Amino acid sequence: MTEQDIKEIKALLATTKHIVIVPHKNPDGDAMGSTLGLCHYLIKNNHQATVVVPNDYPDFLKWLPGHEDVIIYESDKSNVENLIEKADIIFTLDFNAFHRAGDMELPLANSKAIKIMIDHHQQPDHYAKYMYSDVGMSSTCEMVYHFISKLGDVDAIDGAMATCLYAGILTDTGSFRFPSSTSTTHLVAAYLIDKGANHSEIYNAIYDTNSYERLQLLGVALNNLRVLPEYKTAYITLSQEELNAGNFRKGDTEGFVNYGLSIKGVIFAAIFIEHKQEGIIKISLRSEGDFSVNEFSRENFEGGGHTNAAGGKSDLSLNDTVEKFISILPRYKHTLNP
Ligand code: 5GP
Ligand code: MN
Repeated sequence: MTEQDIKEIKALLATTKHIVIVPHKNPDGDAMGSTLGLCHYLIKNNHQATVVVPNDYPDFLKWLPGHEDVIIYESDKSNVENLIEKADIIFTLDFNAFHRAGDMELPLANSKAIKIMIDHHQQPDHYAKYMYSDVGMSSTCEMVYHFISKLGDVDAIDGAMATCLYAGILTDTGSFRFPSSTSTTHLVAAYLIDKGANHSEIYNAIYDTNSYERLQLLGVALNNLRVLPEYKTAYITLSQEELNAGNFRKGDTEGFVNYGLSIKGVIFAAIFIEHKQEGIIKISLRSEGDFSVNEFSRENFEGGGHTNAAGGKSDLSLNDTVEKFISILPRYKHTLNP
C-alpha cells in the first residue's frame, strides 16, 4: 500500500460511504476480530458499514463487540446481495482470493464496488484496487491497526475496536507464541490494552469456555493421533461418526492439530476431519521451522495459507485421504529431515 493509495483512501473515506466488510469462509478469531474492529472504526467515521460472513462462525467468538450485527450470507442471501449491490467499497479481510469466500465468490467477483484487501496470506490474487498484503504480519488484526495508523487515526481506537483487534491477534499468534509475532505485534497489543482491551477477559472468553463434549472429542482426537517418526510428522483423524457422537459444534476442533506439533521431534502435523454433508475431508496443517505447509497444501490438497499454518481439502474418503497423505511424504523426506 503506497502513500498515494493512502491519500486516495483518505479522500474516499472523507464522505459517507456504503461499505461491506467480508472475511473468509469458516471465519476464525482473526477474521472476526479484524472485520468487526474495522467496522467499528468505519461506523465511528459516519460510514454505513456492515460485516458479512460467508457462513456461520464459532460460539466462542459470539461475544465480540458488534457480533450481533453480523450478517451471515448462507442464511440471508438476498439481504447480502442487496448490500453488495449498493456498496461503494468492499473490504476483504484475512483472505486474498475470492474462492476463499465460499459461496460469496460470485457476488464479490461481480461487484463494481472498490475493493480494498487487508491480508497476510501468501500468493494474493490481484482483484483489489487497494492492496495491503503483507505475509510477514502476525494477523490481519495487527494490519487493521497499522491501516488505521497509516490513515493517521490511531487516537480513534476505542475499547470496542481494541477488544476485537486484540482478540484476533491473540488467536492468530497462538497467544503470542508463533514466530510471526514480532516486537511490533507486542507494542500494538500493549497499545490496544491501553485503549481498553482486557487481555485476561479476552483470553478467558475465547479459551476457557470449553464444553464437556469438546473435551471428550479432544480425547477421541488424541486417541486417534499417529506419529511417523521418520518424517517427523504426526496426524489426527476425526470421522463424521466420531464428531456426531461428540455432539460436534462449529469451532470444537479448533487447535486440535497443534497437539500433534507439540510432540518432541515432530515438525509437521495434520488433522483430517470428515465433513459428510459437503462430501469433503477438511485438512489443517501446521509446521515448525522452514517446512512450508502452504506449498504442501497447494501441491496436494487444493489449499494454502502461511508457511507454518495452512488448510486444504480432499474429495477422497477419510481413509484414502490419509493413505494419500502418507504416500506423498517420501517426496518431502529431505525437507522434513534436513
Ligand atoms: P485452519 O487450518 O486453521 O483452518 O487454517 C490455517 C490457515 O490456512 C488460515 O490462515 C486459513 O485462512 C488458511 N486456510 C485454511 N483452509 C484453506 C484453504 O482451503 N485454502 C487456502 N488457500 N487457505 C486456507
Ligand atoms: Mn489471519
